[in-house]
Amino acid sequence: MSGSDIGSKKDTKAGKRQKDGSDAAKKGRLLALALEELYPDSDCTLEWREPWQLLVMGRLSAQCTDARVNAVCRDLFRKYPTADSLADADLRELEEAVRPCGLYRTKAASIKAACTMLRDEFGGRLPDDMDGLLRLPGVGRKIANLLLGDVYGIPGIVADTHFIRICGRLGFYPEDMKDPAKAEAMMRELIPEEYQTATCHRLVDFGRDVCRAPRPDCGRCPESVRSLCRRGEKDG
Ligand code: SF4
Repeated sequence: MSGSDIGSKKDTKAGKRQKDGSDAAKKGRLLALALEELYPDSDCTLEWREPWQLLVMGRLSAQCTDARVNAVCRDLFRKYPTADSLADADLRELEEAVRPCGLYRTKAASIKAACTMLRDEFGGRLPDDMDGLLRLPGVGRKIANLLLGDVYGIPGIVADTHFIRICGRLGFYPEDMKDPAKAEAMMRELIPEEYQTATCHRLVDFGRDVCRAPRPDCGRCPESVRSLCRRGEKDG
């Protein structure tokens, strides 16, 4: 085999990778547009008014429904109306207040610690960058991206369970890939920035309505999304 043959084989492989990448980006854009059409009004389902409240609610939402978090937080925010009051909370009382959300000891401890850090190290203002947010106890990339998007309008991918499941079914990555960090990194390149925050909220609605966790309702999947999905092709 000549040197130029090897070179051209490499070029072909690189060319294929580039094409796969641009096909995936095209599909990511089409998905964002289809979801915008289907769910123009999707928004965060957590009912927050102040940034620190979304921080607390995001923490409580781990392995808990948004409806339950909203119900618990109505009383919680009456009892603790500021982030400072949560920083000063009696830990046992706070645990009891968040108990219905599950994992209540860890959640209460990290909420108190995060509110203390907000007060003592960030002057009471929620950080507006990923590094700052990740310093807050109990805050991982999922909550940080939620906060950046919904509080500050900074694009980001909230790789929650709906997002990871649906993008896997759609074939952006293998369906058994459940790693949030990988899903976030891949999809950040494929969903146009200006659509990222809204697309994540829309995928939550789509995941509750149609592409449900145990079994997707592919028969009810709108053509604009179904045409992008390998499962839709198979089941159609
Ligand atoms: S075709 Fe089925 S699996 Fe694919 S996105 Fe629609 S509901 Fe989900």
